[in-house]
Amino acid sequence: MNHPSRAASTAIILVEPSHPGNIGAVARTMSNMGASDLRLVRPANHLEPASLERATPKAEPLLQQARVFDNLEAAIADLERVYATTARERSRHDRVISLPSIMDDWPASPCRCGLVFGRESSGLKNQELDLCSRLVRIPTFGEVASLNLSHAVMVMLYEINRMEAEGPGTDLQPDPPAPVEAIHGLLDHLKESITLTGFLRPHQEVEIMQRFANFFAKANPTNLEVRMWRGVFHRIDLKLSRQVSESEEA
Ligand code: SAH
Repeated sequence: MNHPSRAASTAIILVEPSHPGNIGAVARTMSNMGASDLRLVRPANHLEPASLERATPKAEPLLQQARVFDNLEAAIADLERVYATTARERSRHDRVISLPSIMDDWPASPCRCGLVFGRESSGLKNQELDLCSRLVRIPTFGEVASLNLSHAVMVMLYEINRMEAEGPGTDLQPDPPAPVEAIHGLLDHLKESITLTGFLRPHQEVEIMQRFANFFAKANPTNLEVRMWRGVFHRIDLKLSRQVSESEEA
C-alpha cells in the first residue's frame, strides 16, 4: 500500500536515543508506516553502521534527512499538537490518554502533529512532558510495561493510520490549533504579567506555571484564542506600568 497516510504529516521525535540500532529500527518502522519526518534530540550517532543496518537501504534516506536538535522545545516548536508517549503511570492523570482513545482526540486533518518518545533508559523528564499537549500510554498485558523504542513507534503509527482507515475526524476547524511555540510564548507572557501583579510568588513559580501549562494544553487553544489571551496580558501590562509611572510621578 502506498497511499499517503495520516502518518505522513506526523513528526517522530526521539529524545536522546542512546542506541544507534534503535534509531535505525525506528527509521525502518517509519518507512513501513508512511512517516518521514524524523527529529532527533541529542541522539547517539544515527549514521553509524549499526543504525544504517537496522534501517535497511530503503529507510536510509530517512536517517540522512533526520533533523538534529539541542532540546525538545526547539524540535517541536512548529507543531500544533504534540503527544508525549510514556510507559509509566504518571501523576498528571488528567492528561494521560490510553492508546485506543487517541482516536477521539486526534485533530481533524490537516494538522502538524508530533509523537515524542523518550530515552531507552529513563523515558521523558517531567519538564519535557510539560512541553507536550498530551500524554499517551500504550496498554500492555504482560509484566513489563515498557516497549522497545521502535516497537512503541510502530504501535503508535499503526494506530493513527488505522484511525484514518476508519474515518478521519470531521470537526473542521477554520482556525487551526496554535503551534506549541505560540503556547510557550503565551505562558512566558502570562508569567511576566502575573509576576507584575504580585500573584506569582517566587516560591510557587514552578508549581503554578506547571498548572497553567497543563491548563492550556488541555484547552488546546487556536491561533486566534492565543492572540486574544496575549491581548489581555498586554492590557494588564500597560495598566500596571501606567500605575507604576503615576506613582513614581506622585
Ligand atoms: N525505562 C523507560 C522506558 C523507556 S522505553 C521508562 O521507564 O520510562 C523508551 C520510550 O518508548 C519511552 O520513553 C516511551 O516514549 C516509549 N514507550 C515504551 N513503552 C511504552 C508504552 N507502554 N506506552 C507508551 N510509550 C512507551
